[in-house]
Amino acid sequence: MLIVTTSKSNVREGPGLSFPIIGKVQKGELFSSTQMENKWYQIEHPSGKKGWIAGWLVEERNPNEKKGRITVDGLRLRNGPSETDGVLETLPKGIEVNILGQKREWLKVETPYGSGWIHQDYVNIEKKSSPKEIKLQKPPSKIGVIIGDQLNVREEPSLSSNIKNQLKIGDEVQILGLYNEWVRIKTEQESGWIHQSFVKFENNRKDSSTPQEEVVILYNGTKIREKATTKSSILAFVQQGDRYTVLSKEGDWFKISLPYQQEGYIASWVVSYKTVQKKKQARKGGLKGKTIILDPGHGGEDRGTTGVKGTFEKFLTLRTAEQLYQKLQKAGANVILTRDHDSNVSLPLRVAIAKIYDADAFISIHYDSIKDPTINGFTTYYYHNDDRELAKQIHKGLKQSISLSDRGVHFGNYHVLRQNPQPSILLELGFLSNKKEEQKIITNPYQEVTTNGIYNGLRSYFSK
Ligand SMILES: [Zn+2]
Repeated sequence: MLIVTTSKSNVREGPGLSFPIIGKVQKGELFSSTQMENKWYQIEHPSGKKGWIAGWLVEERNPNEKKGRITVDGLRLRNGPSETDGVLETLPKGIEVNILGQKREWLKVETPYGSGWIHQDYVNIEKKSSPKEIKLQKPPSKIGVIIGDQLNVREEPSLSSNIKNQLKIGDEVQILGLYNEWVRIKTEQESGWIHQSFVKFENNRKDSSTPQEEVVILYNGTKIREKATTKSSILAFVQQGDRYTVLSKEGDWFKISLPYQQEGYIASWVVSYKTVQKKKQARKGGLKGKTIILDPGHGGEDRGTTGVKGTFEKFLTLRTAEQLYQKLQKAGANVILTRDHDSNVSLPLRVAIAKIYDADAFISIHYDSIKDPTINGFTTYYYHNDDRELAKQIHKGLKQSISLSDRGVHFGNYHVLRQNPQPSILLELGFLSNKKEEQKIITNPYQEVTTNGIYNGLRSYFSK
């Protein structure tokens, strides 16, 4: 994971100052990188274009903040470093906090209940741990097939680490663990780390996905034309989020199929082209034995949004996921969390976890934020058409359970959905930018009914 350390950093077409600038990125933005050349990193610019950023503008980050654990029940979280400062919350024993700073015997901390100050006597400070690898629980009978040629196997999960060996296209490896966007693999000779984007996760089960090529419209009012040129006549205007099956590709244009057996052309630069093959998973038989991945949004240095009262999204998403985890596990589902503590997990890794476990459902949990402080409600997002049903069922479950206003089920262009071959949705469970809503959604009763709602939605989805 790279973090941009300089504001308005240029992203260039190639790895050097002589290449043209394709865009800018902001200080604090996080990117994953798969290639490094002459101290330049290749990244995906938010516009979707691939570009290069100079090594002196970024830092390779190992999420290794200092952490502590609360040793007493009812510890007061104060808004300043003294006994006379106001009490913000009382903290339960055993929770994990991030230590941000210190003044005399007081520590500035980030906690699941907000940030503030606590006395150092009531915290067990944990030693800096080495990178926390996600060891695969119950390693699925899975192997990886290498899809990059002369792929470097490295000693550590980092582009700057020593190269041990190289693999070639088609090589098979065993998958041992994951760390950020890196995969620890084993070959007959040795083990090491390779970048996630060069492994295709295979499972022994017969692949039942249906190849389907689709385009998704990026802008409202996009024109469909009769021929593959902007000079030809317009057949229709289509809307953002609409999707069409691709019949063929002609130059920079896609030939697509329209309703009423019509065909038309759309320019490739106004669509997102989908190559992901969706997995068709069984939906019969209830929750028992189903593999469900819960993805608490954000984590580590990526706090997500911050509420008016100071709630960090990353803590609330984890709280919701853990509560849901308990419920689903009781019902006999095989539940996996993409993170179970306050750590930074890259987006590609979240998707990789879904693939490796061949998930029957992947649910990304988030809380919303917007400039207008009056906006409120919950929203369900899906990307692939095939996931609409999962989105609908869970949204229905939530609607029957919680009293927030219903903002509907929508198409959402999110990495964890777009790149995900498993059935996947993303939930925005209320607005932290709305003071009243924030106060409500951080309560235990709200968390209880919300997780019930998602649970019921999943249960009815798997009862088909
Ligand atoms: Zn979020």
